[in-house]
Amino acid sequence: MAYISDEVIEEVRGRFDLVEVVSFYIDLKKVGKNFVGFCPFHSEKTPSFTVSPEKQIFHCFGCQTGGNLFSFIMQMEDCSFPDAVRLLAQRAGITVEPPPSTPAEKLKAQARENLQEMYSLAQKYYQALLWRSPEGKEVLTYLQRRGLTKESILEFQLGYAGNNWQGLTGELRKKGYDLQLALTGGLLGKSSTGRYYDYFRERLIFPIWDSRGRVAAFGGRILGPGEPKYLNSPESPLFNKSRTLYGFHLALPHIRREKKALLVEGYMDVILLHQYGIREAVAPLGTALTEKQLSLLRGRLDKILLVFDADAGGETAVLRGLELFKNEGCRVEVAQLPPGLDPADYIKERGGEVFR
Ligand SMILES: [Zn+2]
Repeated sequence: MAYISDEVIEEVRGRFDLVEVVSFYIDLKKVGKNFVGFCPFHSEKTPSFTVSPEKQIFHCFGCQTGGNLFSFIMQMEDCSFPDAVRLLAQRAGITVEPPPSTPAEKLKAQARENLQEMYSLAQKYYQALLWRSPEGKEVLTYLQRRGLTKESILEFQLGYAGNNWQGLTGELRKKGYDLQLALTGGLLGKSSTGRYYDYFRERLIFPIWDSRGRVAAFGGRILGPGEPKYLNSPESPLFNKSRTLYGFHLALPHIRREKKALLVEGYMDVILLHQYGIREAVAPLGTALTEKQLSLLRGRLDKILLVFDADAGGETAVLRGLELFKNEGCRVEVAQLPPGLDPADYIKERGGEVFR
């Protein structure tokens, strides 16, 4: 386990009030000396999650979970103790000295960092192709025809992967990056003769971010005929599809403020909704909505609205996930659009008001 000095741990502990930290995730109400809310760790109809500001500990009388500042973060963020300390330290602007880790840990952390850099570079590469290449101009025209403004295209960092097998590959090679890492990280492919090539070609590129807004993956929509229509980056150290909601980091401040979320199916739906001022919109990646994705939203909402195509809604896993929201007192609405119409078309025709 990576080592963090007691000094840093105590400094972090002293900097945070558990009530404030918990309130970041769930709503708390003052009851007597304590604060009470719906437990984020189990599903319940009456709030039994209690935080003591005096003792700086929490306890749930429903599922018997309890602990302090650090154990709360460990459970909430699904991370180790050192990671919990580091996460809080970062929020407080406290520097944690780099831990003297094992060589294997160092390599892993370094690889992750390099992959992150490559994703960031790839995003800029695709974005430049969209705005500066002749083929990119055609894609821009297509996007504008779909109703996207220049501002939206920029805000969502859309890009274009040209019909070039060696474009990004060449860029990464030129910068001296480890192409094998780019392969395992999902940016490149490798032929049977051992030649690396661009994984995304001739596609409109939607960057997918982690919850902190760093590019962690791409969704590529094919332009013209061909299969598959959407190609996503594979799972990687940066990207866990079932735990990611598209647009989450952009929507989160609005979700917090409005206490509602709108779930739609596609990248385009999210972008158009944001463009029309409905900034609480997010989308699962692919068709299935997972409980992990829903847990990103739990404890934050008064209302959740799901808008899906006529053929997609009603999956049992989704409905089961939604029960958790209902139990928290959150209003759940499911809207099915008329067949043949997707939310993006609907918004373009009717404006954003219908989703409010
Ligand atoms: Zn509980």
